[in-house]
Amino acid sequence: MLAQNILEELKKIVGKENVLTSKEDMIAYSFDATAAMPEVKPDVVVMPENKEQIVEIVKLAGQHKIPIITRGAGTNLSGGTIPIKNGIVLSMLKLDKIIEIDAENLTARVQPGLIIQKLNDAVAPYGLMYPPDPGTVTTATMGGSVSECSGGLRGLKYGVTKDYIMGLEVVMADGSVIRTGGKTVKNVSGYDLTKLFTGAEGTLGIITEITVKLIPAPKYRRSMLAIFDDIDKAGNTIADIISNKVIPATLEIMDNVTIRTVENYAKIGLPVEAEAILILEVDGNIEQIVINEYETVQKICKDNGAVEIKLAQSDKERDAVFAARRAALPALAQVRPTTVLEDATVPRSKIPQMLKALKEIAKKYNLQIGTFGHAGDGNLHPTILTDESDKEEMERVEKAVDEIFKIAIELGGTLSGEHGIGMAKAKYMEWEFGKEGVEVMKKIKDALDPDHILNPGKMFGGN
Ligand SMILES: Cc1cc2nc3c(=O)[nH]c(=O)nc-3n(C[C@H](O)[C@H](O)[C@H](O)COP(=O)(O)OP(=O)(O)OC[C@H]3O[C@@H](n4cnc5c(N)ncnc54)[C@H](O)[C@@H]3O)c2cc1C
Repeated sequence: MLAQNILEELKKIVGKENVLTSKEDMIAYSFDATAAMPEVKPDVVVMPENKEQIVEIVKLAGQHKIPIITRGAGTNLSGGTIPIKNGIVLSMLKLDKIIEIDAENLTARVQPGLIIQKLNDAVAPYGLMYPPDPGTVTTATMGGSVSECSGGLRGLKYGVTKDYIMGLEVVMADGSVIRTGGKTVKNVSGYDLTKLFTGAEGTLGIITEITVKLIPAPKYRRSMLAIFDDIDKAGNTIADIISNKVIPATLEIMDNVTIRTVENYAKIGLPVEAEAILILEVDGNIEQIVINEYETVQKICKDNGAVEIKLAQSDKERDAVFAARRAALPALAQVRPTTVLEDATVPRSKIPQMLKALKEIAKKYNLQIGTFGHAGDGNLHPTILTDESDKEEMERVEKAVDEIFKIAIELGGTLSGEHGIGMAKAKYMEWEFGKEGVEVMKKIKDALDPDHILNPGKMFGGN
């Protein structure tokens, strides 16, 4: 509970209409999109309208050692915005402007509360695009996406959020404001602070402005759906496409559990008997190259035993399949009360092994696991359909999750391809970085936020 005088100070800074304290509001901000996490209410939710207000809030919080949990749309999948130590939830949704589109330099400057899709809609008339494309592109914010370093459906060819962040403005834990990077294509001055804050999950500073790189939107694309009667064949196809040096813009996989669930939810005619489908898209600016790549991919699918390959005949057909893919998580979430979605990522050549391991883990722990994801970049989303209220089953879930991460790391992979660490994966950090690696990160945290007021309890657990 915050003292009344602090609430009054906050109201002076942002106006009383931007300070939420009702019981309902506290419940609404006690969780995010992550399942099986504790729900913890903040003391207050504050909705600043500009950077100056954020600076004042941070100074006040620092003075009284009150945690600040910066929040975009709350769609993260690692418990990143749960106010585990209570405190102030700082909602960025009112800082939602596009400050500048610089078509000459192929950059844009935006505020952190801007919804990602709105940036793409605004730059499309210039023939430009901002490639990061998480499943939540129409709801997630730029600030949240930068802070998680989101990936998404175009990561394979176009990379992830960090590949498009050129500069940031950040309010630090002591209330000072820094600028990192800028509009220049080249910039090697000093340490790369832009990269440090990208993916920092709100633990090192509060991002108040973002400069992004834009690229010319590709003129041609071909999209297809390849159907398999065996998931191993789909896995081998993915590895073969990459080793044949074709880099599709999109290469997504859905297993049978996911296909059935999505079809039941979206009714778009997915092949419910298939053991796996691959959703593929090749794109580019030279039509013949796009056609050649499409033909190569089609041949590799056939050689690996695809039962059928369906080419999207129109944008409408293509969009329906992509919408189905984006619906995978919401669809799976309807099957059972709790949906534990993981994010383990392996080198692409290890996808067949990872898929096999996931099947074995599901069997070993007698769990229903749906697997989908950005398979082309090695990023699978094994999704355990379970029920938080069943203690015995949750123990099996926990063991299965431990095993998933253990195998991913043994295969040369990582704990998170795109969803971040937050609370959900903090306990595994030493598996990937060793004690010494985690110590280096903790020293950075201590140096930039000595009182641990920024999103405490995330990334390393504890304080
Ligand atoms: C159905 C579904 C599909 C998804 N698909 C994908 C996908 O394909 N790829 C992918 O990568 N992710 C995906 N996600 C995860 C999520 O949507 C992304 O991580 C998203 O970018 C988070 O944005 P947000 O605005 O919701 O951030 P939030 O959840 O609000 O915050 C995320 C983190 O960023 C911090 N933060 C937020 N704003 C700031 C700021 N201005 N300054 C400093 N820190 C800040 C928060 O403290 C928190 O740690 C999916 C989630 C769902 C529910």
